[in-house]
Amino acid sequence: QQAAISTRPLSEPVSEGLALCCRHQVLRIKPKNEEEIKKLQHLETMGHLELDFWKNPTAPSFPADVRIPAKRVPLIKAFLESHGFEYSVLIKDLQVGNAIGTYFIESWNELDHLASAFNNIVQKIQIGESYEKRPLFVLKFSTGGRNRPAIWLDAGIHSREWVTQASAMWIAKQIASDYGKDPSTTSLLNKMDIFLLPVANPDGYVFTHTTNRMWRKTRSRNKGSLCVGVDPNRNWDAGFGGPGASNNPCSDSYRGPSANSEVEVKSIVDFIRNHGNIQAFLTLHSYSQLLMYPYGYKCTQPADYAELVRHSDVKPVLTPHKYKSGGSIDWSYDYGIKYSFAFELRDTGRFGFLLPANQIIPTAEETWLGLKTIMEHVRDNPY
Ligand SMILES: [Zn+2]
Repeated sequence: QQAAISTRPLSEPVSEGLALCCRHQVLRIKPKNEEEIKKLQHLETMGHLELDFWKNPTAPSFPADVRIPAKRVPLIKAFLESHGFEYSVLIKDLQVGNAIGTYFIESWNELDHLASAFNNIVQKIQIGESYEKRPLFVLKFSTGGRNRPAIWLDAGIHSREWVTQASAMWIAKQIASDYGKDPSTTSLLNKMDIFLLPVANPDGYVFTHTTNRMWRKTRSRNKGSLCVGVDPNRNWDAGFGGPGASNNPCSDSYRGPSANSEVEVKSIVDFIRNHGNIQAFLTLHSYSQLLMYPYGYKCTQPADYAELVRHSDVKPVLTPHKYKSGGSIDWSYDYGIKYSFAFELRDTGRFGFLLPANQIIPTAEETWLGLKTIMEHVRDNPY
């Protein structure tokens, strides 16, 4: 006999506010086939269950991680068991409140500080503002020249992925202080510029500190819905509306009413178009410890697949990411930026988004090593 789950669809916000008081569990579910993926995707649309997919089901044998309020754990486990799913308990007793505040970056102050301490190579520029009118500040690392070939790097487009914003700030300091000391960074900056956006979704980021640690979307209002926000990594003009994104404003993977509807996304797109000489597009997410390359939204292999795969000696591991539409690196690749990569930083699920603060620096260090390898390749292989 199969456990029954009533199919009331999601039409109201469930994770607004401090709904995270209680104990939760995170389950890791390994779908064996497309049918099981479909069942999991269907579960995600059941808003009243208050399931939070930390990792969406993407492809057979790639795990999906789901945070479940304690009171619903028995029901969900019964459902999974009766349907023959393979799963394990990833985090037995999750208390979300503890991690709040430990990472908070006074980003705007830190950006000013960097720009003044290293004013020979660092400049703070504004590329737009968020839905709630927060500035979108980019650090430009440049040793001169006009419209040099450049590398784009952003972090925190999913606001709850706190290790990404923190790593980006660490990397910014590293780039600035390495110039003139480290031969690799020096030769890179003598040839190319780097643009770094450390907090790509500032409204969401502030919301994760004030109200809901698990917020991942933007904070824009959705017409005709009580639910707030769009998944800014399903909002890019690449296979928009395809699989792996939701058309339900209450879903955590809601793609938005149209491509580039989110001003945070559009600001980056406009900046990159206007610049016209961006050679690499790199974006930081967590968690999984993977390096992902296009295409997310269709199964065809990109023309430059062979060359991209040569980076597979970079840690973390290179892997295809199928079944996801509207992602940033698909857009950038389509736009003509051959070197388009998404990093998924630590960890692999032991702490997930609630990575302890003492792992920030090791995470940033290993990420910088991977980024540097790619940047050296871009420097030496212009196109
Ligand atoms: Zn993400």
